[in-house]
Amino acid sequence: MIKKPLFLILLLLSCIFLSCSKSSKQNTSETQSESEKPKIIAKSFAYPIGEKEFITEAKDKKDKWYNAQDFGENRHLGEDWNINSGGNTDCGEPVFAAADGIVTYADDAGTGWGNVIIITHNLPNGEKVQTLYGHLEKILKSSGEVKKREKIGTIGNADGKYLCHLHFELRDESCLLWNKVFIGYSPVRKGWLDPSDFIDKNS
Ligand SMILES: [Zn+2]
Repeated sequence: MIKKPLFLILLLLSCIFLSCSKSSKQNTSETQSESEKPKIIAKSFAYPIGEKEFITEAKDKKDKWYNAQDFGENRHLGEDWNINSGGNTDCGEPVFAAADGIVTYADDAGTGWGNVIIITHNLPNGEKVQTLYGHLEKILKSSGEVKKREKIGTIGNADGKYLCHLHFELRDESCLLWNKVFIGYSPVRKGWLDPSDFIDKNS
């Protein structure tokens, strides 16, 4: 049996170890960033890929992009953006911030995800949303402020798991997985918004 003082020391040491390993994560502190003044307001939104701010979800000649798996389709929590020519033709294409904001997560999220960036956006009405950019080949912006259409990364394939595409999510503050990477699919979509609808309404 462990004596009480020794047990307390062990408990203290494990607490220190846990807090150290937690703080060594690459995630940037949202609270710290948000305390910075003045607040960056996301006045308008744009699509995160393509040469122009706005693209269509259809595979048409209006632009070279299409949404291969819509929000809600197969319980999908985001949109999968691809170049019309398909396959891996979009590997390395630039990914842009959808609006002004702060990068609050940038890390390799592991199998099935690869590199992920989350940006927190303050809306003019005081509410907040987050945009999530998944399966990135490269993370080019891992912290701090970003401007709308600023290049933050490149399209990847989640370390070879898929053909290259951008998995793009948009969440509001009711999302229980705020600033966290989830599994990309769920029958319960509370807190996740249709990204294209939101961009079209807030352009
Ligand atoms: Zn997806």
